[in-house]
Amino acid sequence: MKPVIVWFRQDLRLADNPALRAAAATGAPLICLFVLDDQTPGDWKWGGASRWWLHHSLCSLDKSLDGNLVLRRGDGAKIVKSLVKETGAEAVFWNRCYEPFAVERDKALKAELAVQSFNGALLHEPWALTTKTGGKPFRVFTPFWKAMRMLEVDKPHPAPGKLHHHSVKSDALKSWKLLPTRPNWAKGFVDWTPGEKAAQDALYDFLDDVGEYGTARDLPDRDGTSRLSPHLHWGEISPRQVWHAIKARHAGHGSETFLKELGWREFCAQLLFHNPELPDKPLDQRFVKFKWRKSEKDFGAWTQGQTGIPIVDAGMHQLWQTGWMHNRVRMIVASLLIKHLGIHWREGERWFWDTLVDADLASNSANWQWVAGCGADAAPFFRIFNPVLQGKKFDPRGVYVRRFVPELNIVPDQYIHNPWEAPQPPANYPQPIVDLAKGRDRALKAFRALKA
Ligand SMILES: Cc1cc2nc3c(=O)[nH]c(=O)nc-3n(C[C@H](O)[C@H](O)[C@H](O)COP(=O)(O)OP(=O)(O)OC[C@H]3O[C@@H](n4cnc5c(N)ncnc54)[C@H](O)[C@@H]3O)c2cc1C
Repeated sequence: MKPVIVWFRQDLRLADNPALRAAAATGAPLICLFVLDDQTPGDWKWGGASRWWLHHSLCSLDKSLDGNLVLRRGDGAKIVKSLVKETGAEAVFWNRCYEPFAVERDKALKAELAVQSFNGALLHEPWALTTKTGGKPFRVFTPFWKAMRMLEVDKPHPAPGKLHHHSVKSDALKSWKLLPTRPNWAKGFVDWTPGEKAAQDALYDFLDDVGEYGTARDLPDRDGTSRLSPHLHWGEISPRQVWHAIKARHAGHGSETFLKELGWREFCAQLLFHNPELPDKPLDQRFVKFKWRKSEKDFGAWTQGQTGIPIVDAGMHQLWQTGWMHNRVRMIVASLLIKHLGIHWREGERWFWDTLVDADLASNSANWQWVAGCGADAAPFFRIFNPVLQGKKFDPRGVYVRRFVPELNIVPDQYIHNPWEAPQPPANYPQPIVDLAKGRDRALKAFRALKA
């Protein structure tokens, strides 16, 4: 019997993997393929932290496949076509990706090869929901969520039974050099375990806490969120598995708030699908003319967590050290960059792309545009987070700040978010790079000029 190819992409799991399940059901021997494609995504090829995750996730997937994962590097479409030629494979199975470059590539491949594609990444296809009036894609979250909540979510399937593999030559994962060498900036990523088993464990650990999620999710010093984002991004767990596990927990407000966050993930995915320029261009056309500041010095201070504003610096250190940042703090650091510093949201978006283990084109672009006030359903530009007040509200005793900026340990709680006002400011911590009141005024002025 001729083999069939299962092309793994952002679905690095065996359970609830519709492409793998359908391929296994043919009874044909499988070629389980992963391609490292740095060409098709252009500017949006995987960043450093994503590569770290990918390396470990592929190790885990290969183990689950008893060492039968086939690795190839290059242009995804070319590699798949040549593998079909090389092996005489009868069909190619994959789960759909929704990034614009992937959609284009996959469409072209479908015209040339026998392909069966499936939805393995989202609860609903990005074209499934449209507005009642006009049948257009949603641009506002609340009605999108109302419509989405009415839909049934398919039940997840278990992993297929024993798989039969077709032997094919593979690259050695090590030769891809996905891990950092010197300096090893990933040495602090110790709390992460990529792979399907760890994703399931993270979900089951979180189920005990979901009742508290409604309040705990906003407090960066607590472990109050699921930390499922990189697992979901890489498809080590399917959103259907997460959705049904949370629902079955019946944890009232906590469950409902969490399901809504999965709704945001879907909302972002459909925004990117319908607006392929989302990563690069503002959805709100007025912002094309916005006068952004250029300051390498300020941007450098922001990336290095040296802005002199504790909650911002703590967030940027958390990102650099662990490859992840708490959602509340993501909003605060993004707001400071865009509004107080007046630096283009795309600069921050790029930095996150390189440093987040959960870097996801749809969620990253949509959220940066949301904070910038130029996206769909965005926070208005003139709503500017005050990072001192945000810190006082969500990290009142400075536990989070002290964890990631130990230089501030000596500062009393009262001044932990504004140490420059303390009677004895710490000598080894910078003064704020921007006067918050002046930065705010400058931002509002630039915004008013846009409207004039
Ligand atoms: C500027 C900025 C950039 C961001 N970039 C990314 C990104 O590249 N990748 C990414 O996955 N998330 C991104 N987010 C959204 C959010 O911060 C993360 O999804 C969340 O912090 C992940 O932690 P968690 O898994 O513990 O989340 P939980 O609170 O446990 O939420 C559960 C899941 O819901 C989804 N989710 C939660 N909040 C959002 C949101 N605002 N938008 C979309 N999905 C959401 C995620 O898949 C998350 O894993 C960004 C937010 C901001 C403000």
